[in-house]
Amino acid sequence: MSSPLSLQADVIVVGSGPGGATVARGLARGGKKTLLLERGVDQRPRPYYGTYLGALIYSDRSSLLFTQEGLNIVRPLMVGGATSMFAGCAAPPPDWLKDKYGVDIGQEVAETMEELEIAPLPPELRGEASTRIAQAGQALGYDWEPQLKFMRPARARKFDCGAKCMLGCRCGAKWNAAEYVDEAVAAGVDLRTRARVERVLTEDGRVVGVAGRLAGRPFTARAGTVVLSAGGIGTPRILQASGVRQAGVGMGMDTTVIVYGFSKKRGNGNEPPMTWSWEDLDAGYMLSTLTDPWLLFPLINGLKSPRYALQWPKWNNALGVMIKLRDEISGGVFPDGKISKPLTDNDRPRMERAEEICRKILVEAGADPETIFASPLRGTHPSGTVRIGTLVDTNLQTETLGLYVCDASVFPEALGRPTVLTITGLGKRLVKRLLQ
Ligand SMILES: Cc1cc2nc3c(=O)[nH]c(=O)nc-3n(C[C@H](O)[C@H](O)[C@H](O)COP(=O)(O)OP(=O)(O)OC[C@H]3O[C@@H](n4cnc5c(N)ncnc54)[C@H](O)[C@@H]3O)c2cc1C
Repeated sequence: MSSPLSLQADVIVVGSGPGGATVARGLARGGKKTLLLERGVDQRPRPYYGTYLGALIYSDRSSLLFTQEGLNIVRPLMVGGATSMFAGCAAPPPDWLKDKYGVDIGQEVAETMEELEIAPLPPELRGEASTRIAQAGQALGYDWEPQLKFMRPARARKFDCGAKCMLGCRCGAKWNAAEYVDEAVAAGVDLRTRARVERVLTEDGRVVGVAGRLAGRPFTARAGTVVLSAGGIGTPRILQASGVRQAGVGMGMDTTVIVYGFSKKRGNGNEPPMTWSWEDLDAGYMLSTLTDPWLLFPLINGLKSPRYALQWPKWNNALGVMIKLRDEISGGVFPDGKISKPLTDNDRPRMERAEEICRKILVEAGADPETIFASPLRGTHPSGTVRIGTLVDTNLQTETLGLYVCDASVFPEALGRPTVLTITGLGKRLVKRLLQ
């Protein structure tokens, strides 16, 4: 038997999604000896990056991860985390994060927006069909607006973004947290990929390191500060294995549905995802323009019934509006590996109301009313499993001294909107605290 590998640092960061990448980069730039442990690898140089095959290779259970209720969760495991497959949307944190929980990340969010030049796509790149949907919404009295994006078309070799960029961006326009990882490494971070952290090591109520497997081989890493950023599913699992039994009890998901209708004109499948959106803050949902990529369309809708998969030949004419419901905390991530995320009695009527509004907008945009249907439920924002106010304080520290969490799992409630700008804001704020 080989002896466990032993590593040492000032700070260990676990996971390289937007939370971990932001923290690791900031700490290294501040002079801390930082070890970044990532379960996956950097998939960007691989020839299959940004293809359907790639999405099967780098998503947990080849994209076939389901909750007990049948909700499909897309969970990319790779350098950059889920931003490798995100739709590139940016949204400022909701006001309630500051007003209700006292977490003010306004300055950090403003810094990120300036640094990454976050802005809507120019009008000519927002997509003809997507713009038609937004105009239909506006005509019905809903104030659709161009969505802020982590996309800079000028960076692209050739901007040809369609919904397929959610398989991984091949044209180069979309920012990905892997870029922060590159910058972290340039600033001196020791990045170890294929490093799966299993548990946190503590002594006398203080964190002293982590243990896990590095390329299959047992390892321990020691540091006085550990930041868990393994995401809304990964982080509670590590905490559970470390004896924190309340981790993973309850979760948010921003449960997602796409409502489709077919029109005679071209649809929005070949257009950049989510270029326009509208949020009903009171009811708690966000609508945006999106049709699933070509091959995903029959696979996902076939889960509802084969009859919907048979709509595939009409994909070019599909108009899609996506609903993200700010769902209530429910279900959870459990130590036996199961995940549960039921809609609550308060969630269901709000989802139905949102579907009804999508239907009206699609008809106004030219869809044949007879063709309209809703896709199966999906989850892209697993979050709220290690909530601020429950398991971490407003500085993101757990009950164990020196052990912090910085990722989507700390959200005290589901955001009901894109998460990444909030996560990077939390990361920058934590860096300032840890460097003090
Ligand atoms: C298809 C899709 C589209 C989306 N679109 C948008 C969008 O347009 N805008 C937006 O803001 N958000 C979007 N999101 C959501 C957003 O990408 C995630 O909420 C965000 O990336 C979560 O960040 P995180 O740091 O919490 O975790 P993640 O991004 O999940 O990163 C966690 C990292 O930890 C690693 N890890 C897990 N377990 C371990 C372990 N035990 N040891 C070591 N490493 C581990 C994982 O491999 C991963 O790299 C989308 C998500 C998906 C799936």
